[in-house]
Amino acid sequence: MTASSNLRVNGQRLWDSLMEMATIGATAKGGCNRQALTELDRDGRDLFVRWCREAGCSIDIDAMGNIFARRPGRNPDLPPVLTGSHLDTQPTGGRFDGVYGVLAGLEVVRSLNDAGIETEAPLEVAVWTNEEGARFSPAMIGSGVWSGEFDLDYAYSRTDKDGKTFGDELQRIGYRGQTAAKARPLAAAFEVHIEQGPILEQEQKQIGVLSGVQGMHWYDLTLVGQPCHAGPSPMEGRRDPFMALHRILEQLYRLAEDHGPWARVTFGDIRAEPGSRNTVPEQLVLAVDLRHPDQQILNAMDHSFREIAAAAAAEVGVEASIRDEWRSPAVAFAPQCVAAVRESVADLGYSNKEMVSGAGHDSVYISRVAPTGMIFVPCEKGLSHNEAENAQPEDLEAGANVLLHAMLKMAS
Ligand SMILES: [Zn+2]
Repeated sequence: MTASSNLRVNGQRLWDSLMEMATIGATAKGGCNRQALTELDRDGRDLFVRWCREAGCSIDIDAMGNIFARRPGRNPDLPPVLTGSHLDTQPTGGRFDGVYGVLAGLEVVRSLNDAGIETEAPLEVAVWTNEEGARFSPAMIGSGVWSGEFDLDYAYSRTDKDGKTFGDELQRIGYRGQTAAKARPLAAAFEVHIEQGPILEQEQKQIGVLSGVQGMHWYDLTLVGQPCHAGPSPMEGRRDPFMALHRILEQLYRLAEDHGPWARVTFGDIRAEPGSRNTVPEQLVLAVDLRHPDQQILNAMDHSFREIAAAAAAEVGVEASIRDEWRSPAVAFAPQCVAAVRESVADLGYSNKEMVSGAGHDSVYISRVAPTGMIFVPCEKGLSHNEAENAQPEDLEAGANVLLHAMLKMAS
């Protein structure tokens, strides 16, 4: 039993802070529209910075507008234990996605202040810029530049749909900092987030202990056949790309089952050309999304996909080609961070489930340069990127308590 083992966050204060932040960009339907580098984003940042200063933190802002609020430790030479997430939202976003992770970090700091506890290593609460990718694509660009995934110039040159650049807008809202947007040593990095899926709620578990994040592969599958008249042309002898496609779909859905429960196979878009109801199409272009948390299995799925497409195309005499659109490798979080979360959950006695994230998060990029772990809490009906997004105060409090104890373990 250490002095801090009975320590708990103040759940009411966390909730009140979430609700106050949610007034900035509040929508009529009870959600939030606080898109990156808008005036509302600036107002949200200003409020966070003020709260952190009031809690005794120093503030550092880097060239990407990432904010780092630092609570000093006993030993300033130790690398800090960091937690963070994002304050930006989708245009019709909710009150919890991202902002919960930021304000849970602030609540950890406030709770330690209340209890008069000094950690050995410094603690930091980070706000990562433009996680959502709603206004400026790609997503997670603040943590992405910081971790070396993207160049600063690339980030600055991104434009929104009005042609305004990321760099200019960052300058305009006053959050273009002097510090290089570049990774530095961290003892550990944690992120607490709503699940954005239904699993914890369905299984009535309060905490998700994350072992990693799904890897994602995006493709365009193109099938080229021979257009012909829908009436006079007999079924046999047609070179119909749909005949190949239906074989491919069936086998890919089976592939997902074979690698269940974590494999995901999604066909989000399809285009038929010339696209006339009286004509067998010449060409189909299908968007294919394959996901799995284990990169080796994802690679095996990739391999099977190519074989399935080639074989099905050959059977019906059409041509198949696959273009790789994007890849995000599977992430396995650092064992010591996963253990710190797991032990904290056990100490606190919360029901829990070990799981992986199906969505991307800043922690994906952070994990490339620092030991990283994540915590999930349930959200109502698994709904997110939606104004009706909701979470229970007691679950949010539980997640913040896990964060508090996981950070304490890594900072002592
Ligand atoms: Zn988020």
